[in-house]
Amino acid sequence: MKPILQNLVEMTGHRDHLRLEVSVLSTLLKLTGVIEVRALELFTDGGTPHVRPRTWVENGQLVSTDSEAATDPRREKLEHYPALRECITHQSDSALASPRKGRHVLWLPVWMHDKVHTCLEITQSRTFSAHKLEVLKGVFQVYQNYQSLLDYSERDALTGLFNRKTFDEQFSRYAMNGLAGGHPGAVTESLASEDGPPSGEPVQQWLAVVDIDHFKQVNDRFGHLYGDEVLILIANILRSSFRSHDRIFRFGGEEFVVLLRSTTLSTAHKVFNRFRLAVQEYAFPQVGQVTVSLGFVSTTRGSPVEILGQADQALYYAKEHGRNQVCFYDDLVASGQLASKMVANDDVELF
Ligand code: GH3
Ligand code: MG
Ligand code: MG
Repeated sequence: MKPILQNLVEMTGHRDHLRLEVSVLSTLLKLTGVIEVRALELFTDGGTPHVRPRTWVENGQLVSTDSEAATDPRREKLEHYPALRECITHQSDSALASPRKGRHVLWLPVWMHDKVHTCLEITQSRTFSAHKLEVLKGVFQVYQNYQSLLDYSERDALTGLFNRKTFDEQFSRYAMNGLAGGHPGAVTESLASEDGPPSGEPVQQWLAVVDIDHFKQVNDRFGHLYGDEVLILIANILRSSFRSHDRIFRFGGEEFVVLLRSTTLSTAHKVFNRFRLAVQEYAFPQVGQVTVSLGFVSTTRGSPVEILGQADQALYYAKEHGRNQVCFYDDLVASGQLASKMVANDDVELF
């Protein structure tokens, strides 16, 4: 039991979901009889549920990918995993199957808010004894509890979006490694079905700062509770306006940041405007109409501080020129409406 305990200590020392995943798989792999472990990511593409391995063993080493799931060549349809599909449909906590002689597989889905995005897969050459299942599920439970605690610490309590601290961590990590899944200069085809045919435009990451227009008036006229409700509803519109691998943060009071992954400039314009219109057209209970302004910039140039500062400049331009609009930093610089310089930003000190 001692090695398991040591592994659990090591596992719960991580504050990063992917490292935690690698760590739990390494713990499970050390148990006698286990011949293979994988973490599967579950996602839907074109309405069809899929799985793809996110962490697996290769040449005796655990390896992970953080690339976009939808374009992963290793992806498979969930229907190729009937026992797992059944288990998810019935919201069960595990599934067992023996797809062929000498291969016994246990799937342990990670349930979070009634949804599954991850599932651990453990393979043995022998059947799983009752005792073995108990040990495996025990380790899994520790992992799952810790995973949800980690998730909780990364989110804003009011809206459920990622919080400012998470943005700072993820965006400064990006500065060192680049946003996983993004290949500036590459052309993606994954957007074809969603946002028109591929145009040959380069694919980049985009950062947008969103700020609610005249939000103080909402509080002043209707009270803080209605103000809070507007924040929650706008967070919901944000969630439904972007794809699952885009990241949305509540940056501060009534300000949000969106990181769009692997998309062309014209698609970025389109999706940001689609979001802006969705807010404009939404009937907020009691409050009526609310609008947002948005400034955005490519994340391929400059340090995180500069990128954020540029998106902020574009946002303030939008504010000063009528609000309820989307402004692209480079357009403003090219047309001479904004000078290309680093403007002092209150948020800069954090970096
Ligand atoms: P602008 O169009 O220029 O952005 O005007 P604004 O009124 O939206 O901007 P301002 O910065 O003057 O006001 C932001 C307001 O947001 C002030 C603050 O009371 C409110 N606010 C910040 N956090 C929260 C919150 O969590 N809940 C509620 N209800 N209000 C909040
Ligand atoms: Mg503001
Ligand atoms: Mg505002």
